[in-house]
Amino acid sequence: MKKHNYSAGPCILPQEVFEEASRAILNFNNTGLSILEISHRSKEFVAVMDEARALVLELMGLEGKGYQALFLQGGASLEFLRVPYNLMKTNGKAAYLDTGTWASAAIKEAKAFGDTVIVASSKDTNYNYIPKDFTIPSDADYFHCTSNNTIFGTQMKSFPKTDIPVACDMSSDIFSRKIDFSKFDIIYAGAQKNMGPAGTTLVVIKESVLGKTGRAIPNMLNYEQQIAKESMYNTPPVFAVYTSLLTLKWLKNLGGIEAIEKINETKANIIYTEIDRNPLFKGTVTKEDRSIMNATFLLEDEAHQELFDSMWKKAGISGINGHRSVGGYRASMYNALPVESVQVLVDVMKELEKSV
Ligand SMILES: *Cc1c(COP(=O)(O)O)cnc(C)c1O
Repeated sequence: MKKHNYSAGPCILPQEVFEEASRAILNFNNTGLSILEISHRSKEFVAVMDEARALVLELMGLEGKGYQALFLQGGASLEFLRVPYNLMKTNGKAAYLDTGTWASAAIKEAKAFGDTVIVASSKDTNYNYIPKDFTIPSDADYFHCTSNNTIFGTQMKSFPKTDIPVACDMSSDIFSRKIDFSKFDIIYAGAQKNMGPAGTTLVVIKESVLGKTGRAIPNMLNYEQQIAKESMYNTPPVFAVYTSLLTLKWLKNLGGIEAIEKINETKANIIYTEIDRNPLFKGTVTKEDRSIMNATFLLEDEAHQELFDSMWKKAGISGINGHRSVGGYRASMYNALPVESVQVLVDVMKELEKSV
């Protein structure tokens, strides 16, 4: 039986994507060849890459606005250094918002390149809210933020206005809600949270911000080179790109970001309503900053843990243990998680209340 999979990443993808991807492993588009054995330079795969890059821009409403979409490797973690490499001038300055583990990992990499200012941080309260009152220095080369904090369960509901370029790590909420993506200059996301399997990172770049650092950038780390080679500077992760394309097509057929946002809001409402209603549970973050992707919550009384754990496991739920730095539970409700799975979890929470 298929589990109700709340894994934070790699995560659930649509069942039909799993099925179509499996068929392509055996016989891709009736070529008599597996997607795993064809050349990445074959016309069949070049078409996959082209379609995936175009569909990203279409879904984000960025067509014809000077943006390029790339499918790279190295995970979001490599973008932590690729962004300063490509945006921070020699002897330059960058501004970062520190909202969690991933944001601070990005800060650590930027520090190797130059003056890195932390405009605000919620570290003092174990990242349970999003700082809002801060000033972005106008002489910084760029501002960097994390739209959704996967581990802590907070999400930026609005983004600061600034005239300097903005880079954003959207790994765990890309394609989940309507955002004016044209306000950003670099957007990146490891595929495995909400878009596809592990192995590729989507990077969306406004081309006009590149080429201004005055530093020599190694080709693999150089966004301009990757754009010039149409995301094929070296062998791309063909299966990860193909499966991401299938997921993006699924999203388009569903009605795009607008349609999935409604579903995601429904799921988030169901779980947070129960967390707030049920006296056995409490949420871990400030209500206004709650993520619609990752809901983090604790038992009021840890003595109920063993019973609760056995109940959700019996109900076919998987992957809701919280990250070790927060404890408790984390229900990751990415795009492909059905509303019914959230209902199953909420029913178990109600059942626990009745049985203690
Ligand atoms: C998971 C995650 C990362 C790390 O992604 P990798 O692809 O494993 O490098 C970075 N940022 C956020 C917000 C994440 O959720």
